Amino acid sequence: MTEEIEKKKDIQANGWSAGDRNGNIPHEKTNERFPDIKPSMQIIWKNVIIMSYIHLFSVYAIVQLRHCFLKTLLFGFITGFFSELGVTAGAHRLWTHRSYKAKLPLRTFLMIINTLALQNSIFDWSRDHRSHHKYSETDADPHNARRGFFFCHIGWLMVRKHPDVIRKGKNIPLNDLLDDPVIAFQRKYFLVLAPLCCFIIPSIIPWYFWGETLWNGYCISVLRYCCVLNITWTVNSFAHLFGDRPYDRTIHPAENYFVSLAAIGEGFHNYHHTFPSDYSTSEYGYRLNPTTAFIDLMAFIGQAYDRKSTTKNAIQSRMKRTGKYSDIKEAGW
Ligand code: ZN
Ligand code: ZN
Repeated sequence: MTEEIEKKKDIQANGWSAGDRNGNIPHEKTNERFPDIKPSMQIIWKNVIIMSYIHLFSVYAIVQLRHCFLKTLLFGFITGFFSELGVTAGAHRLWTHRSYKAKLPLRTFLMIINTLALQNSIFDWSRDHRSHHKYSETDADPHNARRGFFFCHIGWLMVRKHPDVIRKGKNIPLNDLLDDPVIAFQRKYFLVLAPLCCFIIPSIIPWYFWGETLWNGYCISVLRYCCVLNITWTVNSFAHLFGDRPYDRTIHPAENYFVSLAAIGEGFHNYHHTFPSDYSTSEYGYRLNPTTAFIDLMAFIGQAYDRKSTTKNAIQSRMKRTGKYSDIKEAGW
């Protein structure tokens, strides 16, 4: 009952609720097709060229690493960590799922490090991810894992969206995102902010502060960008295809420790799709989950609050009902 009230409050506050603590996710499993709409496989050549450039240049950048200062390598690692945090703690757990609340200084910081990650604007990212949860593994899921590893990892960014993604995506409430001035600012100036935060400033810093060449600074920026992109994509690919399903065996998202390790806590994906409102995306606290540690640190200094979590009882009862050892039919393609 309390959960029902909380869910209503969520909807009133955000125009959207990510699901309740009993795991009643607003998740549609139907894969209805409309006879007049054919699945789209129209290639976006501009994106193919950009993705090819980033990956081929990154191979060159790896060779170039031996000419970089150690400080530059460390700088690349630290900016990579923070840009991933901009996706996990920012676009994902804060803005898409509203699993905690953040004050303006923290939201501003998360917006900046999210722009450093350059994975579309927070608005677009959150819209796609809400569709992904609501329509998982259907044509309306932007990175539908039923279309194979390559598609859900990177391919979905190289073709036009399936018509269902656009048509059903219109049912996703986004008012809470439109109302946030931090998101509005990033969206308005994204074309300027994105290259500035992701490539230009990170290339200049090593040159200005410790005499690195601008070229090496650029190489490290592209390599960091490529690594963080692929790490984030493993959540859509590896964590939807490989791993255990202890909480709900009827869905495809799985617990994948490799993904958790790489994506700073986002690999507990069977748990996350079962209890999407939980700010920790896991029942194991800080285990392989630096994003949770960061949010707790922010709560400690008063910047984050109202962290939502799932009770042990709710987890246990859900596991009995739909978990690995329940009688329920497991997911099949
Ligand atoms: Zn999610
Ligand atoms: Zn997922």
